[in-house]
Amino acid sequence: MSKKTLEEVWSNCLSVIKDNVSLQSYKTWFEPIKPVKLKDSVLTIQVPSQFFYEWLEEHYITLLKKTIKKELGSDGKLEYSIIMDNNLTSSKPYSVRIPTSNTAAVKNPSVSMPIEIGEKTIKNPFIIPGLKKVVVDSQLNPNYSFDTFIEGDSNRLARSAGYAVAKKPGGTAFNPLLIYGGVGLGKTHLAHAIGIEIKKNHPQKTVLYVSSEKFTQQFIESVKNNNQNDFIHFYQMIDVLIIDDVQFFSGKDRTQDVFFHIFNHLHQSGKQLVLSSDKPPVEMQGMEQRLLSRFKWGLSADLQPPSIETRIAILEMKMYQEGIELPKEVVEYLAYSITTNVRELEGALISLIAQSSLNKKSITLDLAKQMIDKFVKNTAREVSIDYIQKVVCDYFDLPIELLKSKTRKREVVQARQIAMYFSKKLTKSSLANIGAHCGGKDHATVLHACKTVNNLMDTDKTFRGYISDLEKKIAIQ
Ligand code: ADP
Ligand code: MG
Repeated sequence: MSKKTLEEVWSNCLSVIKDNVSLQSYKTWFEPIKPVKLKDSVLTIQVPSQFFYEWLEEHYITLLKKTIKKELGSDGKLEYSIIMDNNLTSSKPYSVRIPTSNTAAVKNPSVSMPIEIGEKTIKNPFIIPGLKKVVVDSQLNPNYSFDTFIEGDSNRLARSAGYAVAKKPGGTAFNPLLIYGGVGLGKTHLAHAIGIEIKKNHPQKTVLYVSSEKFTQQFIESVKNNNQNDFIHFYQMIDVLIIDDVQFFSGKDRTQDVFFHIFNHLHQSGKQLVLSSDKPPVEMQGMEQRLLSRFKWGLSADLQPPSIETRIAILEMKMYQEGIELPKEVVEYLAYSITTNVRELEGALISLIAQSSLNKKSITLDLAKQMIDKFVKNTAREVSIDYIQKVVCDYFDLPIELLKSKTRKREVVQARQIAMYFSKKLTKSSLANIGAHCGGKDHATVLHACKTVNNLMDTDKTFRGYISDLEKKIAIQ
């Protein structure tokens, strides 16, 4: 076998990695890596900072290991060379070498980790356990606990219902508990949190988290292998069954059918069901009526997009976890720009940290603006009325509540008019909606405000200065 060169090995690794991570992650975490050495099945890669190294080890170690072994055989190893930032002494970066940890201890086991019920714990996954209580790996991600789930108006009902269920699984009226809401709003996180809390309060209970997709696959597999009954029995002995994204069952009649039987059995025996879905039961298409009616037996609680305060709190918690501090204006900018998806909000924060670590730049508002532009393309990135109001109020040093109030104080009226003007210019909101956000005014008031601002800009130089300052501050580009 001819020997592969360093570049070949790394480029083969990259092409596998590319297929296994999102494009954003690939660009952020893998493109900056340089392969530097290949010797005796040890590949050394250079990463731009300690932070990079830690992030890779925490999030991608399983993938990296698999890839390296595939390329270099079973003794394949990975070593890191970290460029240390040594601003104080010399300008030259130097490297340290850290071998990758050998334990498979990944702090953050991927949530989509395939369920291999049994492999480790029971010999045959679907064997009927008899009297002995089997140990089932719950498939819970310890990072998704209640402790790390920030409470806000947007999730209060779902969170407290989840908490109640965790205290008394099967013993509340919330059975099933159905959590629904749009993508990236915390359904999976909350579902895990409930499971973790139950394990804490009731260690003897068998808890299982499974995605609907996995459930479906396992079912199909059991049909193929002709052990459907084992499949059903396995699920019927679970004390707390958490099924994520049940909308996936839509149009899958046989899976719905088997789930229906499992559901009934568990429910009748006082076992807890926790389900999540991207829509409320009434809007689920392709779902059998009898199943839908059961979804409604317990409580359906929704997750809404979090308020600005909650978004900031989520970012702050995330920063705390990563041990990072960011200027307040940067945190606010992120929170104001990404409004509808917590996953993207977190992604933006992480990309920003990575960018700054990569370029050895400190994290400034400018960097945040550039980064958001580059990475967060598909989010609805229109400036929000809230953000405009915030920038205007900061600029004139007014509390935002005043702007939203009905007060007619002169300086507030002017700030309010300016906020209306920018909202009209920079958002797609209707005049009526803008008015509603600015002290409950009607559309005519907003129109009048826009005219007034235009007039003043023509006649008043100082005023024109305000507007152009503000324009720069508000602009996302
Ligand atoms: P969904 O399943 O609804 O698509 P996830 O549960 O995967 O969303 O959440 C996406 C990301 O946002 C996760 O990293 C999660 O930890 C985080 N997240 C969502 N809501 C909150 C919250 N209230 N507090 C802290 N993190 C949150
Ligand atoms: Mg999810």
